[in-house]
Order: sequence, then structure tokens, then C-alpha cells
Amino acid sequence: MNRRKVAVIGGGWAGMAAAEALAGKTDVVLLEAGKVLGGRARAVRQSHHDFSFIDNGQHMLLGAYHQCLGLLQRAGVDAQAVLHRERMSWYQADGFRFQAARWRSPWHLLVGIIKGRGATVREKWQLLKHMRRLQVWHRGAVENGQDMTVAQWLESEQVAQKWQQQFWQPLVWGALNTALREASLLRLGNVLQDGVWSTRANSDMVLPKTDLGQSWVEPVAGLLRRKKVVVETARRVSALSHAGEGHGVWVDDDYFDAVVLAVAPYHASQLLPRNVPGDVSAALSSLAYHAITTVYLRYEQNVDLPATLTGLAHGKVQWFIGRGRLGGDNNEVTAVISLADAPAHRDVDWAQVAHQELLNLCPLLSHPVAVRVITEKRATVSCCANRQPIPQAWLRQHDIYLAGDYVHDRYPCTLEGAVQSGQLAAAALLADAGRPAMAFKRL
Ligand SMILES: Cc1cc2nc3c(=O)[nH]c(=O)nc-3n(C[C@H](O)[C@H](O)[C@H](O)COP(=O)(O)OP(=O)(O)OC[C@H]3O[C@@H](n4cnc5c(N)ncnc54)[C@H](O)[C@@H]3O)c2cc1C
Repeated sequence: MNRRKVAVIGGGWAGMAAAEALAGKTDVVLLEAGKVLGGRARAVRQSHHDFSFIDNGQHMLLGAYHQCLGLLQRAGVDAQAVLHRERMSWYQADGFRFQAARWRSPWHLLVGIIKGRGATVREKWQLLKHMRRLQVWHRGAVENGQDMTVAQWLESEQVAQKWQQQFWQPLVWGALNTALREASLLRLGNVLQDGVWSTRANSDMVLPKTDLGQSWVEPVAGLLRRKKVVVETARRVSALSHAGEGHGVWVDDDYFDAVVLAVAPYHASQLLPRNVPGDVSAALSSLAYHAITTVYLRYEQNVDLPATLTGLAHGKVQWFIGRGRLGGDNNEVTAVISLADAPAHRDVDWAQVAHQELLNLCPLLSHPVAVRVITEKRATVSCCANRQPIPQAWLRQHDIYLAGDYVHDRYPCTLEGAVQSGQLAAAALLADAGRPAMAFKRL
């Protein structure tokens, strides 16, 4: 019997994960518009090689990102060589600092915060009390499907200004890339539940030591090739049209039994068949986006930062990452600005500001010898409270399966959400393929 032929459109992490999950069970073709795979998490070529490497943005994983880390492991990535892993820490040079203790959960957090610096004992208890209250709220919210904005919750809990500024805001900006007045408390709770409260190992911070292309994307591309996935880069799909309910999909002029559409939502809405129901188009076009700016700085001197992620409670840059601490070049620093489209962040000369703020941490630095600023304007979909899922029943009936970080129903836009969404789309496609056509049509 002929095997089903499936096109995965989009070679970001969702598409790569979907292709891997389908390989061996269907004939898979992965179509990617760009010259390389990796999408929003990829290496960027440099013309002058001023830096040891440049990615489109600094990425960090949590130990809880099991599907993403599992994919890298299956691709043969040597975790020791390419991933820097350490216990969770929170370091604001002019504010609160703590590191998770080497204890089991919840003691890792409790002891870590109690031993932290930059806050009184009373303030630390307040922080722990609010974490506990959020945990309790989250448990109920998961059961009842409730949500609210982080700002509403902070106000209802009367959280002190210090903690809003030094903890909750940088946490939410970093994890959700969304302003407090919009950010989903439920999704923040999901990340904390899986990544911080569950086990100590899940709360570990995992950062790439080298570029995302050579260390992450290329091994996964190799895995796909070994699994006989046909990978076509520089292949931009123009349109999908369906061949009738349960009869497959035309991808431009090529016929496939089914398609995993793993492109960002603004591209998905352009590709979907013309007669797609209005609620699907409306849901896709209702999504808002936020930017992330990454500044790469290179100095003549070594830059010794006190922590792997060093922040300034009163700065504009959220986190500085010294590559020396990751086992890389000691002269290079990455500065991360989440929510780079916020009014206070517009028209900022980030190269200048990042250098100036870094001087607060390392006053003897001379001018940087190389600077590169990359802003991804639509880095992530706004992770707002009560966001409705994209309706997928019609699409599934027409053999189209959505994947992508924005499809994930629990996480903000993350690599883990992207990988899980790709795997889930593949599982749904395979489940539908095994179902008798009539039964499927009744869904
Ligand atoms: C600056 C920045 C920093 C980030 N930091 C973190 C972090 O620290 N931790 C974390 O977990 N996540 C982070 N993220 C988010 C993470 O990168 C994304 O969630 C993830 O990469 C999304 O993957 P995806 O496959 O869903 O989508 P994408 O990566 O957008 O993949 C979609 C792919 O589809 C392709 N495509 C589009 N149209 C077509 C077409 N017509 N035909 C064929 N192909 C097409 C695109 O070229 C792209 O490769 C960050 C993102 C950015 C931008």
C-alpha cells in the first residue's frame, strides 16, 4: 500500500519536530522558505566575523523543556559540549539576588530565596507568600479554566512596588514577552509550575554555548535526513488549496495527503485555502506581536559579569549574558531587551544604552570594538490573558494541521511550545489517518 505523503511547511522548531515525529510513518517533505532551517531560533551569518557567533536572538531553555532537549539528544547533540546548564539563579546587581539551593523542590526555592541578598527577611517572606498564593490560584485556575492579567493579580494581592519592579515585571517580560497589564497569569503559572515549582532539575537554566545553527539546527537537520525526510530549503509555498474533504491538499502544484502548517500565524493566514471559515481567519488575525532586541557587544578587555544572567533593576536592558561564563569568548556580551516595542523602548539607541548600562557593572570597559543590534519585530505572539485557541476542526477535516509556538495551549511562545506543538500536530494527523473516513467526518 502506498504510504501517505505529508508536507510540513515551515522549518522552524515546530516544523522540524513535526517532521521528525512523522518520519518513518509517512513520506515527509519539509518545505522551508529560508536558506536555513531554524526559523526564529537560528544562527545569523556575519559579514566580518567580528563575533565568535551571532544568533537572531539570545535563547534560554529551562530544564523542564523535555521535548526540546529530547529532540536535541536524539539528533546526537553533545549536551556537555554545546549546552551550559546551571541551577536557576536570579541576579539583579542593584537589587535582589538568589540562587536555587541544591535541595529538592520546594526547598530549592525556599532556601534559595531565604539565603538571597538585597532584601530584608520580611521582604523575602512576602515574595515567598506571593509565590505560594500564585501556586494555589494556579491550581484552581487550571481546574476552572480561569485567567486574569498579571497586573490584576498583582493589584489584588497588593504586591509591593519593589517586588513588582525587581521580580514580577522582569520575570513576566522575560518569560512571556508581554506587558503586565495584558499578560496571562494562567500561562505564567503554567511555566512556573513546570519550570520552577515542580523539581529542581526542571528549574535549571540551559543556554547555548555556541551558535544555534551549528550546534542545534544542523544536528536536527541531519537527524531528519537520516530519517529520510526530504528537506527543501529556499522553497516558499504560495498557497494551499484543498482537493475536497478528506481528499488531501494542493501545496502550490504538488499534491499531498495532508499538510502540517508550521509557519508563524501571519504567514498561515496568507497560505490557508480561500474558503477557510471566518472564525479561523479572525482568530489568526486577532493575534498581536511583541518585539525582542538583542545587542551583541565585543570589547578589547575581558568582561567579568557576576552571574550568567545579570540584570539591573533600574536599567532598560533586562539581562546581560557574558559569553565567558558560558565557556565562550570572554570579550563578548549579549544584552537582551524584551518587549522592545513598548512605548518606553521606542527610538532607543540600544547599542549606546547597552554599553552605558554595562559600565555600571564593569566601569573600566573601553568602547566596544564591535556592536550588532538585532530586533525581531514579531518575535513572539502576545501572551495575553484569556486568549482563545485557534479553531482547528475545519482545518483537520481538510487535512491541514496547525503547528507553531502560538498554537500551544499552555505555554507562551517558546521553543518547547513550538516543539510540542509540532509533535501534537503529527500525532493528530496520524490518529486521523488511522480512523475510518466516515467516523472522522462525524467529528
Ligand atoms: C529574539 C528572540 C528570542 C527568543 N528567546 C527565546 C528563549 O529564550 N527561549 C525560548 O524558549 N524561546 C525564545 N524565543 C521564541 C522561540 O524562538 C520561538 O518560540 C520558536 O522559534 C518558534 O518556532 P516555530 O517553529 O513555531 O516558528 P518559526 O520559527 O517562526 O518557524 C516558521 C518557519 O516557517 C517558514 N515559513 C514562513 N512562511 C513560509 C512559506 N510560505 N513557505 C515555507 N516556509 C515558510 C519561516 O521561514 C520559518 O522558518 C525567542 C524568539 C526570538 C525571536
